[in-house]
Amino acid sequence: MKNQAITKRSPSQNSKSAIRLTLISLFQKAPKPLTVVEIRKQLLKMGIVRNKTTIYRQIDNLLRHKIITKLDLSTRAIHYEISNQPHHHHLICLGCQKIQTIKSIPLETSIIKLNSRLHHGFKITKHQVEFYGWCKNCR
Ligand SMILES: [Zn+2]
Ligand SMILES: [Zn+2]
Repeated sequence: MKNQAITKRSPSQNSKSAIRLTLISLFQKAPKPLTVVEIRKQLLKMGIVRNKTTIYRQIDNLLRHKIITKLDLSTRAIHYEISNQPHHHHLICLGCQKIQTIKSIPLETSIIKLNSRLHHGFKITKHQVEFYGWCKNCR
């Protein structure tokens, strides 16, 4: 076992942390939430060929460390996005399932107004609003 570790240095802890760092940078650069299929496609393109199990394991790890967030957008595939992003919402296409992010000042303003007008003694501390419709290509 020990000899093998000296002669073969590839499937080591190093390659695991390398794929982890690559995944984090993929998520950081992505303008939208990603699915496992999309992540895998990008990894293959970069020549980092990994099986699905490895990718799932790394994603679980990133989720546990709260580096990425799992989104429940009622789409066919589960999407993930980097956690430390400015507040935003999603536009989800009912046709091609493409997801775009959106920041809306009028929406945030009306939620703040709603909060101040609630007479239920309820205080809103966070909200989750997603928009479903048709993208430019699917309309
Ligand atoms: Zn579409
Ligand atoms: Zn909002």
